[in-house]
Amino acid sequence: MPQDQQPFVVVGGGLAGGKAVEQLREAGYDGPLVLVSAEPHLPYERPPLSKDFLMGKAERDVVFVHPRAWYVEQDVELVLGEEVTALDVGAHTIGTSSGRRMSYAKLLLAPGAQPRTLDLPDLDDAHAQRVLSLRTLDDSERLRGWLRPGTRLVVVGGGWIGLEAAAAARQAGADVTVLEMDPVPLQRVLGAQVATAFADKHRAQGVHLRCEVSVSGIVEDGDGLRVRLEGGDDVPADVVLVGIGVSPRVALAQAAGLEVDNGIVTDAQLRTSDPDVFACGDAANVLYTALGRRVRVEHWATALNQPATAARAMLGGDETYDLLPYFFTDQYDLGMEYHGLADPTSQQLLVRGDLGGGEFVAVWLDDDGVVSAAMHVNQWDDGDAVKALVGTHLDAARFTDRSAPLG
Ligand code: NAP
Repeated sequence: MPQDQQPFVVVGGGLAGGKAVEQLREAGYDGPLVLVSAEPHLPYERPPLSKDFLMGKAERDVVFVHPRAWYVEQDVELVLGEEVTALDVGAHTIGTSSGRRMSYAKLLLAPGAQPRTLDLPDLDDAHAQRVLSLRTLDDSERLRGWLRPGTRLVVVGGGWIGLEAAAAARQAGADVTVLEMDPVPLQRVLGAQVATAFADKHRAQGVHLRCEVSVSGIVEDGDGLRVRLEGGDDVPADVVLVGIGVSPRVALAQAAGLEVDNGIVTDAQLRTSDPDVFACGDAANVLYTALGRRVRVEHWATALNQPATAARAMLGGDETYDLLPYFFTDQYDLGMEYHGLADPTSQQLLVRGDLGGGEFVAVWLDDDGVVSAAMHVNQWDDGDAVKALVGTHLDAARFTDRSAPLG
């Protein structure tokens, strides 16, 4: 390798960053390779942070994409605990929070997303520490420390983080209230009918699920807190988890003049508006060939799979990202997988099985009767068949007939 060869640099220490350096080596890149992450930890993935790790069923090691020795073996330089604060695409340089400046030959941005926060009045430090987000490994450890019988946990936001954390907390014996603005949690993603299956599960597990409520503030109450609702009611809490969505980290790309529109805009090869800069994961608004349009998908599978395409494109390959969006969740004994992307507000829903019975397959059809998205709850043997439904024309009578094979 020539001594003056500029490195490939990966920005971000989540799953996408960890996978990207792996995939670059896998694809045959043997030049200098650097990963820069604002976090002090080795690159890690997030699903266990709201599931097994949070519940104390898994040790810390499960979250890391690779052990430290792997980066040494693969000659990947790790720059941890330093945020990339400057990017000059003309000069091909980045600058970090410690004042380090680095040139790159190709750059991959995988900065992820940051949790949205509530506008809170002044709480003193001790009380403010009881208002948590759940995004990082440290966040998960902090919340885990609270999950024990009797703790009053109030979760603001009935999204994936809120509901997975609520399930973990109930299983630890905590007293859990979930506050949701919509009539039913997950309505925006799954539509009211399917989302009700999740709401019912939580209620049956003892969660106090309060829908169509809006939080107006959080106030001190002795050592604890009270979550104030619009309309005057309030809910006592020892600890509050705010799970109201995330925003893509785009400031660096934006300041560098890259195209940003609901995330860092890329083509189907994960290339940004600059030919030597690529982006993937939660922060990237990617042209999905399978969908024929750009989408930004904030799920684990995106961070897992997009880096392979980006790595090959960085090495001059011409393959495009052709996977469908995919995500899964585990809450109590309810496991779910979802493939594709539907608009439940306008698309026709078909269900095979009993929504209340804990096992079903649901599909959403576009105007031409083609499946936009397919999901199953606890039908793991049919997982591949469910995925294969996406993009097909469906015979509704045959689909809903449980004695007929699926697909
Ligand atoms: P999310 O899934 O987008 O859910 C946020 C929820 O909070 C939504 O129900 C939203 O309602 C609600 N909300 C927004 N503003 C609110 C407010 N001011 N007060 C009360 N509720 C409010 O986001 P998340 O649960 O925070 O998760 C963060 C990211 O991690 C998401 O991208 C999520 O997909 C991802 N994640 C995925 C998984 C998985 O795939 N299993 C697990 C955990 C996290 P509206 O829908 O009406 O906006």
